[in-house]
Amino acid sequence: MTTPDTAPNFDKLRIVLVETSHPGNIGAAARAMKNMGLTRLVLVNPQAKAWPAREAVAMAASALDVLDGVVVAPTLEAAIAGCHLVIGTSARLRNMPVQLLDPVAAAARIEGVRATQDVALVFGREISGLSNEELHLCHYHVHIPVNPDYTSLNLAAAVMVLCYELRKAALQAGPVLAASALDWDQLPATVAELDRYLAHLEQVLIQIEFLDPNNPRQLLRRLRRLYQRIQPDRMEVNILRGILTATETALAKREQRNT
Ligand code: SAH
Repeated sequence: MTTPDTAPNFDKLRIVLVETSHPGNIGAAARAMKNMGLTRLVLVNPQAKAWPAREAVAMAASALDVLDGVVVAPTLEAAIAGCHLVIGTSARLRNMPVQLLDPVAAAARIEGVRATQDVALVFGREISGLSNEELHLCHYHVHIPVNPDYTSLNLAAAVMVLCYELRKAALQAGPVLAASALDWDQLPATVAELDRYLAHLEQVLIQIEFLDPNNPRQLLRRLRRLYQRIQPDRMEVNILRGILTATETALAKREQRNT
């Protein structure tokens, strides 16, 4: 039996709040994080520009250190670029779903990699949540199972539910689960690495006339979702990019022959 990890290290885990309107919610989220042992808070384009805002400080109570460490990012893409795993939260189910997890399963997924991989847990706007496009940047969608007649939690309450599950998972698992991520020889590709591959893939798909840039439909979103489901590692993404480069070279040679 392993000794429970009473002070789990969440240094590689960032909580990302997208375009929060009420600074009080940011303060309350910081407090929930500190209660559960998390420290890294990233704000994407918050409405309050003067930082830290007065209401945030008031609601943070003794979590001012979390507010002091806040990083402000201009876009969600920038906030998660270096992450290997991104988990979005939303009260709403979507037409084109992203793999769904409940909070316990999400916490277990994060627990398996938190020692070795940069992970983001993303929360949406108070009024409109995360857009489809933003949710599709995530590997998983976490839905907190609430009263179906009123599914939308207060932002900081949603942060608390997830942070509590993370702490419970860490206390139960001890160091064992966290170490399992080391079984794989390569780290999964980061968001930025996969983005570069997808941009390259888009170019080649246009060249071979598989993708019509004037009528792209949902092709790229579906391909992104496919790769996010597989979660290729760095080496695999490099191989895939190598195949694209070889395709481009072959196309160029064929064109030369034909002229
Ligand atoms: N009306 C918005 C709700 C926003 S609540 C919507 O339809 O999405 C603010 C944020 O809290 C959400 O973007 C999400 O990150 C989180 N949240 C609220 N309720 C949730 C639930 N039941 N499951 C998962 N996340 C939830």
